[in-house]
Order: sequence, then structure tokens, then C-alpha cells
Amino acid sequence: MQETSLRARILPKVFIFLKVISIIFCLSHFIFSIIFFVQRTYLFSLYNIFSTIFYAALCFSLTHLTSRNTKAVANLLTHITVELSIFITVSLLLVGSPSGFQHYIYGIFIFIMFENYLSSNTTKSILLIVFSCVCTLVPSLLLYYIDSYYTFNNSLASSFNTINPLVVIALFISYIFIFGSIVTQFEEDILYQAYHDKLTGLNNRTLLNRVFFSKNETFVAILDIDDFKKVNDTWGHDAGDLVLRHLSKILTLEIRANSELEVMRWGGEEFVLIYNGSNNFLDIVNAVRDDILQSYVDINSRHLTYHVTIGVADYIDGNDIEELIKVADERLYIGKKTGKNKIVYKG
Ligand code: GH3
Ligand code: MG
Ligand code: MG
Repeated sequence: MQETSLRARILPKVFIFLKVISIIFCLSHFIFSIIFFVQRTYLFSLYNIFSTIFYAALCFSLTHLTSRNTKAVANLLTHITVELSIFITVSLLLVGSPSGFQHYIYGIFIFIMFENYLSSNTTKSILLIVFSCVCTLVPSLLLYYIDSYYTFNNSLASSFNTINPLVVIALFISYIFIFGSIVTQFEEDILYQAYHDKLTGLNNRTLLNRVFFSKNETFVAILDIDDFKKVNDTWGHDAGDLVLRHLSKILTLEIRANSELEVMRWGGEEFVLIYNGSNNFLDIVNAVRDDILQSYVDINSRHLTYHVTIGVADYIDGNDIEELIKVADERLYIGKKTGKNKIVYKG
């Protein structure tokens, strides 16, 4: 079944994002620890070992989680936010700003945005934002008065200063990709659901606002399944649903054969057909009725047959679609009163 909640759709993607990020950050911190060890910046190397262990633990805990566990995933995002904030403080104080680790403050907002979406806890998100900003701003201000612990200002620092903003940009692209694509898809699905009937997949009544009416060529028919209540009562409601699906398949085939034919489920077991083409509309309506009469619905190897009554109106019967539908409905009523299982056109 298709997920309808936006959160339920985002969670699995955020889960994969977290797995990828944890692995990448774990490896990166491990490589940093070696690089900074070689650079004799031992304290910073040591801190990177702590970070490596942190992300290794995160990878491990992710293997024990499922993507359905919203709260746990939100908590992991909080942990990353805190770790990144502390990492910025430590990196600024130990190796200074030339290495560009402070740029991760922008990346942190991605994690906070995901976290806020999953937990909906705005207070927590604001606190995280304040904490991250303090972790970046305070050491940055301090650096005006004190020097970083290590003077680390060489070509390696400038490489880091290039790579770190690129990583942040990659985080933003991931955000746009994950959130943007899901929201767009979600909107398309919502619109589809607004215009279509869930059971049959046919258009619903909202199509009426978009159908074309011509004073010279528009035809309308209302089709109603005969004694459908009896079908439900005898065969069960699920069998009734299968009948509705069966009929909608026949109608869909007719739409494929006639591109100017529009069909909507009008409600219950009633369907409206609107035609603006050059073929004979009565032939189309007859073809639908014949297909229904010549087929059956298989219910556990038993054959369920049904029939329909159809009222037809054309452009002479009114000045807009609504008027044509009204006339077709009156003819449908006449058909029902006079024995059902027939097409009524022109009185
Ligand atoms: P008539 O020949 O005069 O049209 O009689 P009818 O029994 O077809 O019409 P009636 O209006 O008395 O009953 C329509 C039934 O359609 C009642 C309702 O429970 C059933 N129905 C409406 N929508 C659905 C649906 O989505 N699925 C199923 N299984 N039944 C539905
Ligand atoms: Mg009926
Ligand atoms: Mg009815």
C-alpha cells in the first residue's frame, strides 16, 4: 500500500542518508587523525580518534535500528549536531580557522532541519541552533585575542579550507535531493488523489470542471449498475468492489479506443461519460453495455454477472454539461422504471 504521510516517506531516505554520512564521517575522522598525527598536532589527532569512535558507534547503532523508528533516528541526528558543534570548537581552538572546519556550522543546519521535521520539537531545534552558533562564534571571537594551539597554516590547511566547504555543499545537495524530490512527488500524489477515485482509479467528479463543452458535438451518458445493492447483499461488499473495478476496466479500454472520451466515477455505482469526438457516441455506449453483458466477474471460481442502465443526452438537450447530465439522469430514471438493463436516449 502506498504511504500517505510525508514523514513516512522521508524517514527511509533520511535513514540511508544517516548511514552514508556515518560511514563517510567515520572514515574522514580516521584519515584526519592520521594526517594530524603526521603533522604533529597530536591533540587534534586524538580528538579525531574520538570522533572516529563516535561515528563507528553510530554506524553500529544504525544496524540495530529500522527506518520506522522515528524517535531514534531524530535522536541520532541530534547527536551528530552536538558532535559537529563540539568538533568546530575544538578545531578552531586547536588548529584555527585557516583549515575551514568552521564551515560545518552551515552543514549542521541540514541535520537540525531533518531532526526538527522528524521530532517536531521546535524548542529542541532552537536550542541546537543556539548551541551550534555558540560553538562556532565563541572560539572565533577568542581567536582575535589568543592564537590557536597549533600554528597550522600551510598548503594542507588551504586544501582543507577548500574541501570542507565542498562537503557542506554536498550536504545541502543531499537535503534538496531528499526533501525536494519527496515533497514534489508527494504533491503530485496528493493532486492525483484529489482528482481520482481510489477504488477504480478513474477520474472523480472534479473532472467536471475541466471537461470541454461544445454546442455542436458534446454527448453525455450516465451509467448505473442495476440492483447493485442486491449484488452487495448476495455476494458481499468486496465482490461489489470487484464489480466496480471490472466495470472501470471496461470503461478504461473504451477511453483508450476513443481519445475524446472522458469518464468519471460520479459516485457509488454511477459513472458519467462525456464525449466530444466524431465517432457515433451511441456505438460507444452500446459497446460498453455489450462488453458488460458478455463478461463476468470471477468470485472464487463463481461467475458473477451484472447489467447496467444508461441514460444518454446530447448537445441539443442543454446549454452546458450540467444540463446535459440532468437530462441524461432523467432518462436513466426512465430506464430504471421501465425494466432496467437498457440504454435510454431521446425519451
Ligand atoms: P438500481 O437498480 O435502482 O440502481 O438499484 P441499486 O441497488 O443499484 O441502487 P441503490 O441506490 O439502491 O444501491 C446502491 C448500492 O451501491 C448501495 C451501496 O451500498 C452500494 N455502493 C456504493 N458505493 C459502493 C462501493 O464503493 N462499493 C460497494 N461494494 N458498494 C457500493
Ligand atoms: Mg444502481
Ligand atoms: Mg445509483
